[in-house]
Amino acid sequence: MNKIIGYIIFTIVVVSTIFLYTKYYKANDMKQEKVIFTFFGAPGCGKGTLAEQAVNKLGFQVISTGDLCRKNIAEQTEVGKEIEKIIKAGKLVPDELITGMLTDWIKQNADPDKPLILDGFPRTKGQARIFAQYLKENMPEYKFRIIKIDLSEEEIVSRLAGRRVCENKACQAVYHISMPEVQDGICKKCGSKLISRADDKEEVVRERLNVYNKNEKELLDFYKSNGFEIETLNIAGLSRKQVFEKFKSIL
Ligand SMILES: [Zn+2]
Repeated sequence: MNKIIGYIIFTIVVVSTIFLYTKYYKANDMKQEKVIFTFFGAPGCGKGTLAEQAVNKLGFQVISTGDLCRKNIAEQTEVGKEIEKIIKAGKLVPDELITGMLTDWIKQNADPDKPLILDGFPRTKGQARIFAQYLKENMPEYKFRIIKIDLSEEEIVSRLAGRRVCENKACQAVYHISMPEVQDGICKKCGSKLISRADDKEEVVRERLNVYNKNEKELLDFYKSNGFEIETLNIAGLSRKQVFEKFKSIL
């Protein structure tokens, strides 16, 4: 009898030790992995929605360089004043300035325990190059992951060209013509008329896609030729929820 109790206690001790060790080790491991994500994908592919879900459900952080520019201008910081002057002169904001503003933000505000998503960055090859160099030299503890959200042109065109928005500026609900509830062309939230945005017209969408694809190819070519891995997330036919599940599965 004593022998059996002895065995049981021994087993419990061994199992709990392994369990606690694994748990501690894992927690530590996860803490050490600092990740910065950037999503590539044509307008209408759902990049924004995916980032939003990652923030709300997984506790990721997201930083939009567009928002950061506007914030700096509104607060009239040094960099904000500089950017404002350049924009007012009708010139392009230099890549060094945008990238410097972003890396300053990361240094001061990024929570090292949370993966970070870059929204709207990099836009140019220059930004990609400066940022990659910066990470290598100053933040080698960060892993930079490039996710390419893949959707066929036809699917994107159908998504965008079929989009209907509420004309009530205070509502701006977004629908798709395939939804049964909007067949009458009336917003279900406020009763206003649904319209198709001018830049959602098919020819305009195709033109936007051409411009986007050309720029994206240049950026991805830069990353490929510099040894970065590009992870593809094929989302053909997937719902928002399924896209999120697929993203979670590659984390
Ligand atoms: Zn509405």
